[in-house]
Amino acid sequence: MGITWPAGKANPEVLIIDCFDPRFKLAFNWLPTMLEAEESKVLRIRVPGGPAPLAHEEKPRDFTARRDEIILALSHFPSLQTVVAVGHEDCAWYGKNPDKHTEKEDLPKIVQTIREISRDKEILVFYFRFNNQNRTEIALERIKQG
Ligand SMILES: [Zn+2]
Repeated sequence: MGITWPAGKANPEVLIIDCFDPRFKLAFNWLPTMLEAEESKVLRIRVPGGPAPLAHEEKPRDFTARRDEIILALSHFPSLQTVVAVGHEDCAWYGKNPDKHTEKEDLPKIVQTIREISRDKEILVFYFRFNNQNRTEIALERIKQG
């Protein structure tokens, strides 16, 4: 028979798509608490760039491989009610381009892609940025869309 495990989060209600940047991990981990979402109902996709690949179909495959993973999750779970797209400042996925806030500018396009795949879901968008020059503190912005 072998060992079997229960399939966790078979019916997730909230999908959080965020980046694995360790500088933002504590802030990102706080999101379910902020959203008052039960941890057992939260599915998290934590990949380089977070939802960024959803805005860039044109990038090379090794950049956008995670796009498929995100799209699969979006279309695979009928139980999903809320999709949370999380962008952050100075994301390495975009390369070194400190003067351009591409991460933030991409969020509307990301929302558009999510909406195309899962029309009936609530979409929440957040942008995390450094709040001081020493980059020891992070602030959260809720991005309104539509
Ligand atoms: Zn990042």
